[in-house]
Amino acid sequence: MRAVGLHADVVVATSRAYQTTCTLVRAGAEAFCIDSPIFPDELEIVPALADQAGFTVVGLLATHADWDHVLGRYAFPEAPLGCAETTAARLVSEPGNAQRKMREFDEEFYVERPRPLSLPSAQRLPVPGKLEVGDRELELQPAEGHTEDGMAIWAEWARVLVCGDYLSPVEIPMLQGKGTVSAYLATLARLEPLVEQADHVVPGHGGPIDGVRAAAILREDRAYLEALLEDGEAAQLPLARRTAEQRKIHAANVAHARV
Ligand SMILES: [Zn+2]
Repeated sequence: MRAVGLHADVVVATSRAYQTTCTLVRAGAEAFCIDSPIFPDELEIVPALADQAGFTVVGLLATHADWDHVLGRYAFPEAPLGCAETTAARLVSEPGNAQRKMREFDEEFYVERPRPLSLPSAQRLPVPGKLEVGDRELELQPAEGHTEDGMAIWAEWARVLVCGDYLSPVEIPMLQGKGTVSAYLATLARLEPLVEQADHVVPGHGGPIDGVRAAAILREDRAYLEALLEDGEAAQLPLARRTAEQRKIHAANVAHARV
């Protein structure tokens, strides 16, 4: 697992699986842990990483309800979980889904965990809205389209945007569940002014990246989604994201957009 400090108050760890990111953000005497890495050894290291940085984690935040982002309880077993209303609703309406998806991954890669995944009932945060951390505030913005739920988190004082599964340098826009192209495009429009102000952007997978690169990815993703609506299967993938795996995601997006 790779860990980097983006600011005196922000540390990002990137998982070996899917390059999933976990962001620790601190203000005053409090810190939040946003999303999670995936492998047990990585989850075990996160509290030490927080300690080393002098961060006291008082809560977990999840950008959305996909299983690969909600494993924070393995790192901080007592911490309460906060998320968007849309995410809390999804966790309630899909009971056991995250656990099942995690188990499928673990079976495929022979991963053993110390205990089953506990997902405490989540605290519903006002989105759009503000969340206090220490003597600062995090700005929460809805981020839907990839799935039907989610939020992006803007730490203005640090100029860091944690955006969930958008603006990834390694993954093309992915439509899942009740996610839609129009909601995705609306999220990109909402994120754009924050990306312009950001020194660093932390996508759910890959990164962190600087604001200029994130802005370029935003333009590429918008062009891809517009082409997906217009041309379907013939839509061009962003140049740096044309691997076989990304083509599979594209094929799934074509099927998804047709429904
Ligand atoms: Zn994800």
